[in-house]
Amino acid sequence: MELAYDYPLYRPPSEANSLIFQVTLGCSFNKCSFCNMYRTKEYSERKWEDIRTEIDMMAKFYPDTRRIFLADGDALNMSKDGLVQILQYLYQKFPNIERVSCYAMPKNLLQKNDEELKALRAAGLHMFYVGIESGNDTVLKKVTKGATGKSIVHACNKAKKHGYILSCMVILGLGGKKYTKEHIADTAKVLGEIAPDYVGALTLYLEDGVHEEFMSKYGESFDFIDDVEVLDELERLIKDFDPKTPVLFRANHASNVYSIGGTMPDDRKKILSLIEGLKQHPEMLKPKFLRRF
Ligand code: SF4
Repeated sequence: MELAYDYPLYRPPSEANSLIFQVTLGCSFNKCSFCNMYRTKEYSERKWEDIRTEIDMMAKFYPDTRRIFLADGDALNMSKDGLVQILQYLYQKFPNIERVSCYAMPKNLLQKNDEELKALRAAGLHMFYVGIESGNDTVLKKVTKGATGKSIVHACNKAKKHGYILSCMVILGLGGKKYTKEHIADTAKVLGEIAPDYVGALTLYLEDGVHEEFMSKYGESFDFIDDVEVLDELERLIKDFDPKTPVLFRANHASNVYSIGGTMPDDRKKILSLIEGLKQHPEMLKPKFLRRF
């Protein structure tokens, strides 16, 4: 049984077994130049009556649901009251819920005040997936992310303060050849200051729909880094990323050159030695045709 979703529908890989409810459609920002996810949709919030009907329906088929993901691109943009209403009803209809999560932009987190974030946490919202992409202000500006390294740290730490689980995504190669050093150094710094529970590193892949826009917004020529340079970035990121609390690090997305992961900082040596091995044997990398964003 599947809901009549408004496609395209995205969810993080770790929500593969979650029940998904689209409480908003599209992304309220929709301007990041590398992102093609919601270009065909205009942001809107779905009517409570429609959401309630879908919850009722799915509760009949999947009453034992444990994990729920609220889509689309930034469900946290919804008002606190709207989200609390949804969360309360979800817990009423699915008594075994263990986790409710959604995507959130740094902007969404900053726009909610402490009381609102506290109320949402109390109502059972557990986790945010935050695309931080880079910690470097030049790169963030060039890809029109609408955030700075400082605002990202502030937003994420605000969520952490209220007990949310955080999963942050970064994009290898986003600074191209020119800004690779700054991109990685500042990304490692920002990640270290946040120490999210999870970090996912993706590799830049521009879909046809945004290729031109990305290049024109970048404001100067952009040279993609090659596979060995991607490994170099990963190596530098792992060397510099020094969280004070354990962070589960993964670079196992479909866009990555190889599946790499471990707990930082404890597994630093192990990850670095795997990267070293891959640099010496690039034939082990995933073929390009098997990679996607
Ligand atoms: S990366 Fe996230 S915030 Fe940016 S346009 Fe895509 S969905 Fe929206």
